[in-house]
Order: sequence, then C-alpha cells, then structure tokens
Amino acid sequence: MSETIDVIIIGAGPAGYTAALYASRANLKVFCLEGWQPGGQLTTTTVIENFPGFKNGVDGNALIKEMRAQAARFGTEYDTAEVARVDFSHRPFEVRTESREYHAKAVIIATGARPRMLGIPSEQRLWAKGVSSCATCDGFFFRGKTVAILGGGDSAMEEANFLTKFAVKVYLIHRRSEFRASKIMIDRTKNNPKIEFVLNKTVEEVLGEQRVTGLRLKDAQTGEPSELKLDGMFLAIGHVPSTQIFKGQIAMDEEGYIVPQKHTMTNVEGIFAAGDCVDHRYRQAITASGDGCRAAIDAERWLAARTL
Ligand code: NAP
Repeated sequence: MSETIDVIIIGAGPAGYTAALYASRANLKVFCLEGWQPGGQLTTTTVIENFPGFKNGVDGNALIKEMRAQAARFGTEYDTAEVARVDFSHRPFEVRTESREYHAKAVIIATGARPRMLGIPSEQRLWAKGVSSCATCDGFFFRGKTVAILGGGDSAMEEANFLTKFAVKVYLIHRRSEFRASKIMIDRTKNNPKIEFVLNKTVEEVLGEQRVTGLRLKDAQTGEPSELKLDGMFLAIGHVPSTQIFKGQIAMDEEGYIVPQKHTMTNVEGIFAAGDCVDHRYRQAITASGDGCRAAIDAERWLAARTL
C-alpha cells in the first residue's frame, strides 16, 4: 500500500489551487490531482477584470499559472492524471487514477463545473464543426464569419463582445427578454454595433451537413419557427457541476451540486468540497478561491483534532 497523504485535492481551478496553497502552508503533505486540462474555467476566459489586486485586469491563464506555482512553492505536488474512481467508504480514503492509487486522510473536492449543452443531436453531430462552448479557444476560426452566441448571462455578453474581434456579425440568442447578466455587460453588448439581439427564441436544430450553416429557431412565445444563416454557434448557457464520479458517495442536490453539511465538510467526515462543484449562486474566481481557503482550513483543523 502506498504512503498515506494528508490532503488530496481533486481539481485544479482557483478553488483547488487555493486549497493547495493553504494546506501546504499548514505543513500538510498535499497532492493535487489536476486532470488532463488543469486550470478550470479561468483558462477559457479572456481578461478578468474583477479579481481584486489587478487594476487593469489579469489574463485568466496567467492568473491560474501563478496560483499553481504559488502552491508548488510551499510543497504541493501535482499529478495531471484524471481521477477514475474514489472510495470514501473507509479511511484512509482511496482515490484512483488510471495509473495510480492514492490514499488520503482528507480529500478536498474542487472539480468545478463544465459548460451546459442544449442536448439536441445536431449539436453533437456538428461539435467542433462550427459548434463550440469556448469563444476564447475557437473564436479565431470565425474571422470574417457570422456566428451566434446562446445565453443571457455574463458569459454570453462577454463572449459576444469577444467574438466581434473576429466575426463580422454576432447574434446573441436568448430564450427570454430579461437577462441574468450584469447591467454593465448588457450595456456594453447593446452598444456593440456588430451584435444583434435575437430574443425569446430557442434553438431547435443546428443546420448543416459537414459544417454549421444555420440554426432553426422557435419563438418561445408564439411557437413560430424561423431560420438564421450563420457559420458558428457558441454555447454560453451556464454550467453543470463535474461531480459524476462522486455520485452515491457524498450528498448532492438533484442537479449534482455537492451539499456541504458543516462549513465545507460534506456528509462524509474528512471529505470537503469547494468552488463551483458546490456553489451555483456566486460562481466567481474570487469566491472559488475563498472557498478553497475555507476548505483547507477546515481540513487542517479536522485533521489536527484526530489521530488517524
Ligand atoms: P448564468 O448566469 O447561469 O446564465 C446562463 C444563461 O443561459 C441564462 O441566461 C439562461 O437562461 C440560459 N440557459 C440556461 N439553460 C439554457 C438552455 N437549456 N437553453 C437556452 N438557454 C439556457 O451563466 P453564466 O453566464 O455562465 O455566468 C455564470 C456566473 O459567472 C455568473 O455568476 C456570472 O456573473 C459569472 N460571470 C461573470 C463574468 C464577468 O463578470 N465578467 C463573466 C462571465 C461569467 P435563463 O436566464 O432564461 O435561465
């Protein structure tokens, strides 16, 4: 049996790296299992203007690299493997990747959330052929083209504006006429001459054989169908928590968000959770970081109060 690690952190966004920083600075042996795409959602954003301490904003990738390096400086070790299976039914807890088995006295889950999909077959069929959930990653491929962004939140507004750097025209399609986005983002989007709002419409089908050629829409109030010709569709319709592998082992709500029982501790003593896999209200980099800090402090105190 391998060495038992004090704290295993699963996930590598602001919550995971902040938890790693705090747990390492508490002199605990910490392993962070990052998955094959470390960094979380910050790596798919552009400039972050609302993370305190950066007057002129900060690049999402740059910020997350700094967080990672900061935790490493205090001793956090990393494994970029994906977690395949966990067993929280006994202590030490078991966490398995494809190639290794870890044993931990405490675990902090910080697996975040992934983009929500519409769930229609044509979206799958034309995935990466004009359908994308990452404007930052794929916007460049739509230079001189017409695209749509779906959603009425801050992500949709931010990405609509970002896409106008490349596309000649951006439709912002939303199923209602009220927005969740903040006023500043709505105003910025409304003032962008390349963006046209298409409201009270749902996407029924993504059209095209080899690549996206358009969308079939339905009016949410009258049910009237219509079509829009375009070259790409970007999804910005929220997120779903990445908690599938913990199903049946810890308490979650019906949407799959982990429900902490005492501070950041889950219903399983010694298993803590932080960030977007728990939080469907705030979902900010700064709140995820704060959560990671709280989880590390809770884990440290819980470990200190016990001899395992
Ligand atoms: P969000 O605020 O949850 O908005 C999701 C949008 O997608 C909503 O308008 C929702 O419509 C729509 N939607 C959900 N499911 C849908 C479906 N099946 N079909 C069509 N539309 C659907 O998500 P978000 O925009 O990703 O933002 C998440 C959090 O990050 C928020 O707290 C936001 O403030 C924050 N954020 C901040 C910034 C910034 O400050 N620069 C940038 C990005 C994100 P309904 O409104 O009708 O439900």
